[in-house]
Amino acid sequence: MSDWQQRDKNYIANTYARFPVEIISGKGSVVTDTAGKEYIDLGSGIGVTALGIADEGWQQAVIQQLGLVQHTSNLYYTDPCARLAETLCARTGMKKVFFSNSGAEANECAIKVARKYAAQKKGADCYTIITLENSFHGRTLTTLAATGQAHFHALFQPLTPGFVHVPANDCAALEQAMQTYNPAAILLECVQGEGGVIPLDADFVQTAARLAAQQDCLLMIDEVQTGNGRTAKLYAYMHYGIQPDVVTTAKGLGGGLPIGATLLSEKVQDVLTPGDHGSTYGGNPVCCAGALHVLESLDDTLLDEVQKKSDYILSSLESAAGVQSITGKGLMLGILPERPVAEVLARCLERGVLCLSAKQKVRLLPALNIPMDTLRIAIDRLKDALA
Ligand SMILES: *Cc1c(COP(=O)(O)O)cnc(C)c1O
Repeated sequence: MSDWQQRDKNYIANTYARFPVEIISGKGSVVTDTAGKEYIDLGSGIGVTALGIADEGWQQAVIQQLGLVQHTSNLYYTDPCARLAETLCARTGMKKVFFSNSGAEANECAIKVARKYAAQKKGADCYTIITLENSFHGRTLTTLAATGQAHFHALFQPLTPGFVHVPANDCAALEQAMQTYNPAAILLECVQGEGGVIPLDADFVQTAARLAAQQDCLLMIDEVQTGNGRTAKLYAYMHYGIQPDVVTTAKGLGGGLPIGATLLSEKVQDVLTPGDHGSTYGGNPVCCAGALHVLESLDDTLLDEVQKKSDYILSSLESAAGVQSITGKGLMLGILPERPVAEVLARCLERGVLCLSAKQKVRLLPALNIPMDTLRIAIDRLKDALA
């Protein structure tokens, strides 16, 4: 074991199964390890470095803000924070934004909004939140409760009460749960990411929207992974012709700096009042300046490119040796391999490609601006690893 592996093992809490690679630098979609070996990055730090490593515009925006002020707290106004919120609202039709630092926190805020909205409007016993089986909403105790995967729950009881999980794409089960629980909200990912890159059926999402509207139950979409251009729309709900009451996002929004955002529609824009919620770092001007650059880069040209690259990956791998199936949307794709997924990822590493897994699938979340020639090389290597 190398020095760096040993030091990490000695001092870092034992929660991660890391790949045996120490990354020291990168540029675009290529990262370099301590031995000088280069890898094409098809994971972008779990969908975070949406514009790749050290994108020039992003870096400039961040450095410029660092030269002005790196943090103020929410006791004061800052320009990047307000501008980012304005841009998010302009591009989604939402009305207000609460900023935090991660996906889990963005969902925590959404859950608090749902609880308060329902308690005030429908009474104290209307607090249940319906989520889906096989979902993932975060690691805090409340977002773990929201996460519909029992194996995450086992050792951390009691979790926050008031969450019910229904099977994805089962309209009848959803309708039944809506009647049984009179819920405060439905929370769902349009493409289940950690659950195995599984897009929801349009019919199911539209049914959820309709049922929610009928009962004044909030429709809350977790866009932590699917958001910010990942699926070739700015937000994945935009594929489904629905207008959510609450949207949460994080990961790719910051382009590599920690930020979470909870977007509130007109109906719930004034639910939170002073003292209800807060975050010391939330809306940090450096993170917001970087995020603003990410959002401004996500124009129709880039989104079209995301779709083209997605089509390229699908057509290259669909009938490739060792591939059983491919699911997903845009540059959020899950490949079910014939080999065990861990073996494929190890073979990718040998061949100089970084990929992710999700359940039994190889998950690809490359930078949205990965150059086509780099992507071609990476997909050739991946093909070889899968075969
Ligand atoms: C990653 C993820 C989260 C949690 O985000 P963190 O930033 O790790 O807290 C929540 N929801 C979804 C859909 C995710 O993919």
